[in-house]
Amino acid sequence: MTVSNERARLDALYQLNLLDTPASESFDRITRMASQLFKLPIAAVSLTDHDRQWFKSRVGIAHDAVTRTKAPCSQVAETTDTLVIPDLLDNAFYRDCPIAQDGIRFYAGAPLVTRDGHGLGALCVLGTEPRNIDPKEIAALNDLAAMVMSQIELQHAFGRIDPLSGLPNPTQFLDDIADLGRDKPGERRLAIMLDLARPEQINNMVRVMGPSHVDDMVRKAAQQLREILPAGRTAYHVAATQFAYLADPDMSDDAYAAMLEGMLKRSRAELTVQLVSTMAVGIAPFMVGETDPRDVLRLTHSAAQDARGSETSVSLYSIKSDGAHRRRFGLLRDFENALAAHDQLRLVYQPRVDLASRACVGAEALLRWQHPTLGDVSPSEFIPIVERSSLARPLTQWVLDHALGQLKNWSRVGLRMPLSVNISAANLEESDFAPSVQLLLLKHGIRPELLELELTESAVMENIGPALDQLNTLYGAGIKLAIDDFGTGYSSLAYLQRLPAQVLKIDQGFIRGVLDGEREMQLVRSMIILSHDLGFHTVAEGVETTELAELLETMGCDEAQGYLFTRPLEPAAFVAWIEDWNAATLAQAVG
Ligand code: C2E
Ligand code: MG
Ligand code: MG
Repeated sequence: MTVSNERARLDALYQLNLLDTPASESFDRITRMASQLFKLPIAAVSLTDHDRQWFKSRVGIAHDAVTRTKAPCSQVAETTDTLVIPDLLDNAFYRDCPIAQDGIRFYAGAPLVTRDGHGLGALCVLGTEPRNIDPKEIAALNDLAAMVMSQIELQHAFGRIDPLSGLPNPTQFLDDIADLGRDKPGERRLAIMLDLARPEQINNMVRVMGPSHVDDMVRKAAQQLREILPAGRTAYHVAATQFAYLADPDMSDDAYAAMLEGMLKRSRAELTVQLVSTMAVGIAPFMVGETDPRDVLRLTHSAAQDARGSETSVSLYSIKSDGAHRRRFGLLRDFENALAAHDQLRLVYQPRVDLASRACVGAEALLRWQHPTLGDVSPSEFIPIVERSSLARPLTQWVLDHALGQLKNWSRVGLRMPLSVNISAANLEESDFAPSVQLLLLKHGIRPELLELELTESAVMENIGPALDQLNTLYGAGIKLAIDDFGTGYSSLAYLQRLPAQVLKIDQGFIRGVLDGEREMQLVRSMIILSHDLGFHTVAEGVETTELAELLETMGCDEAQGYLFTRPLEPAAFVAWIEDWNAATLAQAVG
């Protein structure tokens, strides 16, 4: 065999990612069949590496590899011909070969050949007595070898190899972990996950450079990972931008983490590995055969999430943060059901009061979720999770639909006032967001001026171009806009000025501090002045005491919202509250 043929043959073998993979029942079944069919104690699927015969599956052999020197299977791989040696001791070349020295007398091997004609190795049967083989048996051995090849191709081609990276996919990862569980139960191993970049970073890359750039990046990362990993360690492509592999056995958690931290640091300094600046690495120890393979993926994913927040970008799995991740996953999954159920979500309403006249001039609709088993879940917990998912759209549509339905009901009993609804950054990325809001207004027969949409400054800044387009369309349609939680996010005054918003709500964190000291008071005073200078109507959030309300009034703040007036109320309680409130303010004005 020429050197270049041998190189091509080895390339074909390596690409299949078969060497040093755990035993697998689909191959073992064929080997057992061969052994039974020939009534011989030894059978194997033997792959010819550059210096060894490695057994993907074996019956009656103690080792997982033997030397390639004078191995009959190596001849089968090189010639791609079936080889039968009735008695090794009668064969001048193989008489002193290692298996003959181990007492083997009979050998028959059928070639494992790829579609491109590369011999990978042999399906072989061996016996300790000399033996003859008839043509029917040779045909059977070749059939079994063809079955092994089908299995190899099946594993490689169908649903097990990611077409982009050429690496085995999560299905293969799960199967290999399960196979390892049968092979080495009770062993403690480390699973590693490399997360190339955060979803937002990927989105930005797609937007700026196009999707093919991200594909290239993933392909390159896969290639680099293949090069970095020691021979025999398989890398898996487990999610769009995530790879996983198992560390060598006997690695200590801390030593391995330190090694990876060092490697990342060096690569960052030398910029040798693309993407190293956005990469996060999670490490999770697990017990082979005991930890469910799906949990292995989940644990490494959880650790990689933690790594995003850590200084070194490498993190070991922690039970505590995994509990939090699990709750987040659970909430997201259950929220989808909540949207479809009729008894889990509801809106409550909190009034907004004009500080000078003390009249109730509007209300904010706030979402409440009663989870079937967890009970009340706070919007501060579930909204940030849901609004970063594909459920951001149905969430806002649900809230708008119900809030506008409530406005309609109130207008029937003579209660007419503007209602504010919170929307998310992701909504502004929906190309049809503005028309969908208009459609809902039409459905409920509500005038656009009665609807105000609240969004945080960060929500606008995240995606300024498309966001401005959507906001301008909404503004053009007569819908009011408010900037929520002002002061908590990043915003540029230049952009604030360009926003078609009329209302600015100062975050309760600042309002609460007003009575704490001169500096805090000065800060809020400046915010009110700035807000007015930019032409906004100013609302203070989280006003809990009369003293604070009076102080804010003297500072020129227009409106306030907070527990001082009332906590958010159920619709019926809101109507009762507003009747009492109006009666009291009227009495005060008259008296
Ligand atoms: P937000 O829009 O700033 O709403 C004001 C929050 O402050 C509400 O919390 C309200 O109950 C609370 N609050 C009002 N007055 C006081 C007060 O005097 N003291 C204190 N300590 N708190 C006060 P809630 O209802 O828990 O909502 C939290 C956040 O969740 C909201 O902040 C908003 O960002 C989000 N959220 C609520 N409902 C929705 C919704 O339907 N859609 C979206 N996208 N977000 C929502
Ligand atoms: Mg709000
Ligand atoms: Mg707010």
